[in-house]
Amino acid sequence: MMLDAMRRADRAFWILLDSIEKQVENLLREDKKTVRAELQEIKKQAEKRLTTFPLGESAKGGLPVDIHAQASSYIELINVGQKANWPTRRPKDDPYPAALEALTASITLAEMTAATEALSAKARTNEPRPLSIVRNDKRGTMLLKDDKGRLFAWVNLHGQGSRFARPVVVSNMVHTRTGEIVNFKSKLGCVMPLACSQWHFQRFIEPGQIKSSKLIYRKGDFFLACTFQYLIKDIDCDTYLGIDRGIEEIASYAVINDDLKLLKQGSFEGSTLREYQRKKEAAAKATQRRKGESRVSWRAYADHTVHTLANKIVEEAYSHKSQVVIEDLGAISQGPQHKRPKFRPRTNLTKLLNRAQYQKLAKVLAYKLRAVGLPPPKLVIAAGTSITCNACGYRDRGNRQSQATFICLECGHSENADLHAAKNIAAKHIYWRQVGPKVKGKKLQDKFKYEHWLKARRERLKVN
Ligand SMILES: [Zn+2]
Repeated sequence: MMLDAMRRADRAFWILLDSIEKQVENLLREDKKTVRAELQEIKKQAEKRLTTFPLGESAKGGLPVDIHAQASSYIELINVGQKANWPTRRPKDDPYPAALEALTASITLAEMTAATEALSAKARTNEPRPLSIVRNDKRGTMLLKDDKGRLFAWVNLHGQGSRFARPVVVSNMVHTRTGEIVNFKSKLGCVMPLACSQWHFQRFIEPGQIKSSKLIYRKGDFFLACTFQYLIKDIDCDTYLGIDRGIEEIASYAVINDDLKLLKQGSFEGSTLREYQRKKEAAAKATQRRKGESRVSWRAYADHTVHTLANKIVEEAYSHKSQVVIEDLGAISQGPQHKRPKFRPRTNLTKLLNRAQYQKLAKVLAYKLRAVGLPPPKLVIAAGTSITCNACGYRDRGNRQSQATFICLECGHSENADLHAAKNIAAKHIYWRQVGPKVKGKKLQDKFKYEHWLKARRERLKVN
């Protein structure tokens, strides 16, 4: 299937190149401005012509660029006085077209076998040109990673009418450029598994932004040559941004520094998401979706929530150079006294962020933070963060007389419960970084508990 796509593109390339030869020769004596304009015109014409070719989107997007590049480098070479010949198609006795004709016309198995053999013989001696993989999305090739860490490329190889056009489902893969979770169904390509070492992945793919790529066929193997752009500079974090899954809103956050000083706090509200949900529901009703499709739509909505939230978190973290800290839902223990945290049901809107979605958020955040040069989120056990006073360290269930408000029974500190918990989540990372190594594997003594650390820290900061 991949070879078929490459051969089709290869043939289309030569057809186009032959057709523009005269046009390009006429340009040799023209001035630069005219040449540039004419070459653009040639590219446009190629695009137009290609719409009728039985090719995939990649070829249709990549070939005009190839044609343009070929023509302009030819003109440049001639103009600087170098010898250059207009590239010619393979010899007229090229057996490939005839073999292809024979294959489509074959009726008996023997005819078909002979034609197939002629085609493969051709492939051994004269391999097709590399095929550009573009138009996977707005910015080029889509590299995907599954939950087992395996790497794939989506390659859009053929058109609607191709005999290879069969539905392919891509589900729950992570787009390595955007960090987005990708779910889609298409008949126009295939998912190509790639062999890539962990080292290569971390060194090149993760920090880079993949642009385009070229599919190359060499001696029976397929390779994908990718181009990456690296823009990121690592940011040294000097603040901590804690996230609490909210009750009123989707999530609340607090940015603090090493001295536990609050720099900023706020909530990621859900109104835009509500709007999105309403639209989705309206669209679903309007098209009278078949049974079972509502779940897909719901998942799309949930994914959208995760991404929107992640984008907002990254934005805040970036502006404060923050280490993002989130609740660890997956951890079994951070010490013998810790139990696996319970996932409390939330309001209509925020229950979207169920355990699975929340874990997805952690993954998506890691990618998106990395893309701007920030470290992946740190995880902390959230136990006690909603009932321990961030101002004085007093821990008591009674501090939470209501769901919405935190009021310390000891010092009287009063605050919105979500915003308050976010501060504790950020502070808990500072705490665990200091205390964790001392108590590793041991039962956590009282003096090492978060509330004691917090109290001592607050008192010391007051003195200084
Ligand atoms: Zn207090």
